[in-house]
Amino acid sequence: MKELFALTRRHRCGSRSPPSSVRSSNMQRLILAALLASLWTPSLQAGDWCYQSQFSCDHQCKAPDQWNQANGDCGGNSQSPINIVTKKTVKDERLTAFQFHNYQQLFRGTIKNNGHSVQVDVPHLSIISGGGLTSSYKAVQFHLHWGKDGGPGSEHTIDGEQYPMELHIVHMKHHYTDLATALADPEGVAVLGFFYQHSNIRNQKYEPIVTALSSIKATNGNASLPSISLAQLIPPEKNLTSFYRYKGSLTTPKCTESVVWTLFESPVPLSADQLRAFSQLKFHDGRPMVGTFRPVQPLNGRQVFHSGATRILTSSAILVAAIAAAVGLCQPN
Ligand SMILES: [Zn+2]
Repeated sequence: MKELFALTRRHRCGSRSPPSSVRSSNMQRLILAALLASLWTPSLQAGDWCYQSQFSCDHQCKAPDQWNQANGDCGGNSQSPINIVTKKTVKDERLTAFQFHNYQQLFRGTIKNNGHSVQVDVPHLSIISGGGLTSSYKAVQFHLHWGKDGGPGSEHTIDGEQYPMELHIVHMKHHYTDLATALADPEGVAVLGFFYQHSNIRNQKYEPIVTALSSIKATNGNASLPSISLAQLIPPEKNLTSFYRYKGSLTTPKCTESVVWTLFESPVPLSADQLRAFSQLKFHDGRPMVGTFRPVQPLNGRQVFHSGATRILTSSAILVAAIAAAVGLCQPN
């Protein structure tokens, strides 16, 4: 019975306190519900998980706080996403600029509503190296995480700030041919994460994706995209020298801890309408696909590093100004 109450409390279902006269009949119903729940729970597949936004008393799916039940590494010590506390990050000189090979390459992909997100598989032609990575990695797919109607929706947060959306470009070490194999390597996968910010103007480079969303509202819906490149989805390369790095996991079950994470400081601008367009997608039950982010996970002693490019620029500018001022002061009249 204790377990039953723990269950109802956790999901905030049936938590109203009834008058004592009706408690005993309600108790019988609770016992019945517990028995039914005990029969129902084992039938859940490992893949049968949901976001918190999908959980309701009528639809008791496995929300993030239950992903650790039969979902691989979800209860592990190096989980993602995390909140990045910028003042606790450590500057790492090895986090040099990335080289993006074939990121300009145009390809015709298929955009799909996979029931949890919108995903585009990409030809394994675009390769990243540098950026402190110990190997080169090739792009496999990209997908997004968002909130409701352009509200908070990123997975990672920076000093507690949640951005409206987050792009994940998933890469695997260049010598692997499939993600499953790469995930068995503790550094087999590298995900580049990009935040979004509200802009007053539409981002034309995102029109192909935003337009396609209306054709893939239903789960398993897919549509052909016109030619796009990965480069058009991210800020210009010169703005990508400032980033955070840490070791973590996939942010969906099975939460495998084999991801080298990079979060870029420079966000992608999208208009309010463009951000809102993602909320027209539907989960498998027909309800709006919103709040597709996992809550932040404990750091458990992990260190987050930063490339420090912005700070170097800032301190250089101050230094130059100081020298200029000093020279100015020393100049004879
Ligand atoms: Zn993701």
